[in-house]
This record gives sequence, structure tokens and C-alpha cells, in this order.
Amino acid sequence: MKILRPLTWKERLLCLVFPARCLGCGRAVLPQRLFCEDCVPKLPKEPFFQQIPLEEGSLTVGAPLPYQEGFRQTLHRLKFQEEWGLSKPLALVMAETAGALPGEFTLVTWVPMSDKKLRMRGYNQSALLGRAVAKELGLPCGEVLEQVRETETQHLLGRSQRADNVRGAYQAKPRVGGERVLLVDDIVTTGATMGSCAQALYQAGACWVAGLCAARSPYRPPEQEAEHTESFW
Ligand SMILES: [Zn+2]
Repeated sequence: MKILRPLTWKERLLCLVFPARCLGCGRAVLPQRLFCEDCVPKLPKEPFFQQIPLEEGSLTVGAPLPYQEGFRQTLHRLKFQEEWGLSKPLALVMAETAGALPGEFTLVTWVPMSDKKLRMRGYNQSALLGRAVAKELGLPCGEVLEQVRETETQHLLGRSQRADNVRGAYQAKPRVGGERVLLVDDIVTTGATMGSCAQALYQAGACWVAGLCAARSPYRPPEQEAEHTESFW
């Protein structure tokens, strides 16, 4: 996995004010490093790939990092603590995994957020990651998916409930017709949300869809998930 990043002089100067931090533990690191020396051995040898079943065929989703320990906290900082700048180093690591997905892409998009949730949180972390990944890959990007009904929080639901919760919750714009789409989200667990978004993209005429997330989380039943969430905070 990529552990160094190229930096412009402007970015190096910026690091004097906002030091670069390890994506695995948050410790300050040299500006060009993505991970500290202690976290490099914890990185997976290969990205995680999983197949999400669709009504017809399946969706391949790749993710470079495990959603555990310090990596989990990094994703929380991006998602809940407005550390938007993390999207850029995460995108570097994600772009490398995108290179291992089958096929060439023509468009990058992301899992959208409902208007209600967007008003509450103020930003969509998946959009930040999607735009940064598109920039890294030199591909066009845009919000082509729309959440057409409210859904429950996925990680507090059981496996089959998650699929029911997001089924038909998304719609894609006709402009995806003929595109080979890279669909970005922050975390993949059962893949129900990614699957529902991919289904919407295919229904709108996309000719190929693959998924890319920053981290992969193991599935835990809702009661364990609630305990785990509480212990983190
Ligand atoms: Zn570290």
C-alpha cells in the first residue's frame, strides 16, 4: 500500500501550520508520510474485495483499510469532526485500490445523503472522498444519485433489515447512461447501501459499476454494534 505522498511546496508550507497526521493513529508524521512507522506493519497486505449480490449479477467493492482501531478513528474524524482535509490522503490510498478494480472508469460518483441528514451534519463525507478520488484518478465526477426516501441508520440494523431499509431508496440521473461508474462511500459492511445505489445506476443506463470505500467493517449484529459504538465514544 502507498505510504508516501507527493507534495507541492504549497502543501509542505501548509504542513507547518497543520501538521500531517498518520492515517492509522493520528500521530504527527513527516508531511510526505501517510502512515507512521508503527502503523505500516498493521496495514493489510492486499485491499479487501467483496462481491455484493444485485438483482442481476453482482457488484465488486474494494476497500484498502480495515475499519478498526486507529483507522476507525480516522474515519470518525472525517465523518463527525469536520476534518475534511483527511479526504485527500485517504483518496490517495483509495485510488490505488481503484486501480485493482476491473475495468476503466469514465465517471466517479458517491453515495448521496438525504437533505435532512445533510442539514444536520452539514456535509457528506462520501462526497468529499469521491471528489478527492476523482481528482487523484483524473476523472470527471458528479452527484448523479439522489436519496428519494429517508432510511434508518444502517449499523443499528440486522443484515436482512439493512437490505430492506435501503432497497429502492436511491435514484440515478439519466446522464449516467453509457457511463462506467466508480461509486464511492466511506465504509462498507454488508454492502447493502452500495448495492442499492449500484442498482439505481444500472436502472438509469450505466453500463458498468464498481464500488470503492475507504474501509471495510466486519458485520456485527445490532446489539454488539450498539455496545461497540458506545465504547468508542
Ligand atoms: Zn500511526
